[in-house]
Amino acid sequence: MVENLIIVGSGPAGLTAGIYAGRAQLSPLLITGGALGGQMALTNEIENYPGFPEAIAGQKLTQLMQKQAERFGTKVMMDEVTGVDFSVYPFQVKTYAQEYEAKAVIIATGASPRKLDVPGEKEFTGRGVSYCATCDGFFYQNRMVIVVGGGDSAVEEAMFLTKYANKVYLVHRRNRLRAEKVTQERAFKNEKIEWVWDSVVTEIVGEQGVTQARIRNVKTDEESFLKADGIFIYIGNVPNTQFLGGQLELNERGYIVTDRKYHTSVPGVFAAGDVQEWVLQQIATSVGSGAMAAMEADRFITELEGTAYPETTA
Ligand code: NAP
Repeated sequence: MVENLIIVGSGPAGLTAGIYAGRAQLSPLLITGGALGGQMALTNEIENYPGFPEAIAGQKLTQLMQKQAERFGTKVMMDEVTGVDFSVYPFQVKTYAQEYEAKAVIIATGASPRKLDVPGEKEFTGRGVSYCATCDGFFYQNRMVIVVGGGDSAVEEAMFLTKYANKVYLVHRRNRLRAEKVTQERAFKNEKIEWVWDSVVTEIVGEQGVTQARIRNVKTDEESFLKADGIFIYIGNVPNTQFLGGQLELNERGYIVTDRKYHTSVPGVFAAGDVQEWVLQQIATSVGSGAMAAMEADRFITELEGTAYPETTA
């Protein structure tokens, strides 16, 4: 059986594509990937997604979007795509469990946390090194932790960690944050956060678990050690495109190149959300691109079947 549309990924872009493609009566198959909801599900509190003035937990928003997609006939499959073949038609999509064929594909696999790539990081991952404060923050009650990074994720999660930890060192490689102003202001008022400017972590040290980090001041080259029980790394993301095997055009940063209607370099294959050319990585923008990609996939299938509707001016 050839699927009309396979959506790869279950973050806000993928789930929204599911809602729109479902309503277009494509009965899409959505393959979730390792974790339903992607980075959205790992976010403790989302306060800038419209419609939730009191904020909403990422897990909850994921559940609501999934329910809405399923309501319109999207088949949500817990599996992971391991490879694709876009040189044949129908397209082929392989997962751990099965092989599928599809008339159109939307790639919405998002991005994963970038690694620091310093000694000790790999060794202590899961034993003090974490990329998810929502998942692991609870284990650091009355302890000391380090957060690395200066973007929205680092600053927001540092504030979240102050709920548990006695002290949170925020180590940033410059002396100015990249995070939104409103977030910065809130964080500067938080007395549990101690700012370590112009500094990078060069080694993570420990025994059974993390005990300290070696820090280098990038202006003076001075080295020091910061004692900490946990290190949370938030230094941006890398797009999840490995499974594509080089079959779609990527930009110099590794993101999928799309046009303004989310078409990739292969007709019939679309990309939405954080995996495509980086502009603004937000749930709101991912939702928009997921909706657009689904509508374009519907148009592609309809045109193939000879019942095209007129081009919009979008
Ligand atoms: P980001 O905005 O790319 O910030 C990454 C931070 O890590 C930057 O401060 C960067 O320093 C630092 N960094 C990068 N590589 C480093 C390295 N090798 N060593 C040390 N520091 C390094 O990443 P993000 O905070 O994960 O956010 C990703 C996207 O999601 C952004 O668009 C962000 O706005 C969005 N986001 C939004 C919200 C929200 O709206 N509430 C929440 C979370 C994330 P420099 O500043 O010096 O480059």
